[in-house]
Amino acid sequence: MEFHSFNPPVRTLMGPGPSDVHPRVLEALSRPTIGHLDPRFVAMMEEVKALLQYAFQTDNQLTFPVSAPGSAGMETCFANLVEPGDKVIVCRNGVFGGRMQENVERCGGVAVMVEDEWGRAVDPQKLEDALKANPDAKIVAFVHAETSTGAQSDARTLVKLAHRHDCLTIVDTVTSLGGTPVKVDVWGIDAVYSGTQKCLSCVPGLAPVSFNERAQEKIRSRGSRVQSWFLDLNLVMGYWGGGAQRSYHHTAPVNTLYALHESLLMLKAEGLENAWNRHQRHHLALRAGLEALGLRFIVPEEERLPQLNAVSIPEGVDDAAVRARLLEEYNLEIGAGLGALAGKVWRIGLMGHASRAENILLCVAALEAVLADMGAPIETGVALGAVQRALTAEA
Ligand SMILES: *Cc1c(COP(=O)(O)O)cnc(C)c1O
Repeated sequence: MEFHSFNPPVRTLMGPGPSDVHPRVLEALSRPTIGHLDPRFVAMMEEVKALLQYAFQTDNQLTFPVSAPGSAGMETCFANLVEPGDKVIVCRNGVFGGRMQENVERCGGVAVMVEDEWGRAVDPQKLEDALKANPDAKIVAFVHAETSTGAQSDARTLVKLAHRHDCLTIVDTVTSLGGTPVKVDVWGIDAVYSGTQKCLSCVPGLAPVSFNERAQEKIRSRGSRVQSWFLDLNLVMGYWGGGAQRSYHHTAPVNTLYALHESLLMLKAEGLENAWNRHQRHHLALRAGLEALGLRFIVPEEERLPQLNAVSIPEGVDDAAVRARLLEEYNLEIGAGLGALAGKVWRIGLMGHASRAENILLCVAALEAVLADMGAPIETGVALGAVQRALTAEA
C-alpha cells in the first residue's frame, strides 16, 4: 500500500458543523509553532480569554477554551459542578439534552428529566413544575440551541426560573455562540460551554467555557474530588489563570489556539450584533428559497434557530442519495437527521463564515437541480428568484 499526502477537496459546509472556515483562520493555523509557555504565546492566551469574554458577553474571570471539542466543554461543566448524589434537572428536546443526562449520571448525580417534543423549544412551565416537584434540585441544565432539531429555547427565562428555586444553571451554547444572542452576564448563566466549529467558524477541537462566581464557589466547596483529572478546573486554572506564573498542566493545542484567536478577532471586528443580524437575514433568504421549493420547516417560526434550518425530506425521496449527490456534484455538505429525526429531515446550517449569500444561492440551486432530477415532488423555477428577492429586501 502506498501512502500520499492528504489533500481534501474544497467543500461548502452547510451542515450542523464544522462550518466553513475563513482563509484567514486557516492561514493562522499554519504559523510557526512556539512553546506553550513562551511569553509570546502566554500573551496571546490572555487575548483569547478577553475575546471570549466579549463573545460570551461576560466579565467572568474564569473564561477560557478547554483543549478539546464541544463535548469536553459539556463534560467540564458537569464534572466540576455535579457531585455524587446531586439532583440535576435536565431539559431534553433533542439529542444533546440526552447527553447531558448521561453526563449527570456518570458524575454520580440524579437526573430529573423535563421532556419536550423534538423540534420545539423547552417549555418554561414544565421546568417550573419540575422545580416545584424537586425542591432539593441543585442544578438546571438545558441546551440553548438544539442542533439536532433547529429549535432555540428562551435561555433568559429558564435561567430566571432556576435561580428563583435556588439552582445553578449549566447552558449549552455550542451552536448559538456567535450566531444568536448569548448574554451570559445579563441572563445570569452560571456555567456555559460552546464549541469553535459552529458559528465561530474556527476549526473543531476547542470548547470555550465560562463560570461565574456562584459556580466557582460550588466547585471550591466540593466535598469530593472532581473525578476527571484533565477537566478538574482547580488544576486547569493553574495553567489558564496563572498569568506569568503559568505552570504545566497539559500542552495547549498551540496552532489551534492561533486559529481561535484569529476567528475571534474577526467576530470582534464584525461586531456581535452585526453577526447576529447577518445570521437572521440569511436565514430569511434561505427560508424563502426552501419554502419556494415546497420544503417545510419542522420548528415553529418563533422557536427557529437562524443558523440551523431543519426541513422535512419530501415523501419518497432517498435522503442519503440526495446528500451524496450534493457532495459529489456540488461539493456541498448538508446535514442528515440525528436520533429520532434520522431519515426524516435535512439540517442546513448557515453558521459563521458559511452564512453568506453565495452559499444560500448554491444550496437552493443544487437542491432544486438534484431533487428535480430525481423526480421529487418540488416546485421548480421559482426558488432562486425568491432567494434573490429576500436578499435584496433585507439588504
Ligand atoms: C456540536 C454540539 C455539541 C458537541 O460539540 P463537539 O465539538 O462535536 O464535541 C454539543 N452540543 C451541541 C448543541 C452541539 O451542536
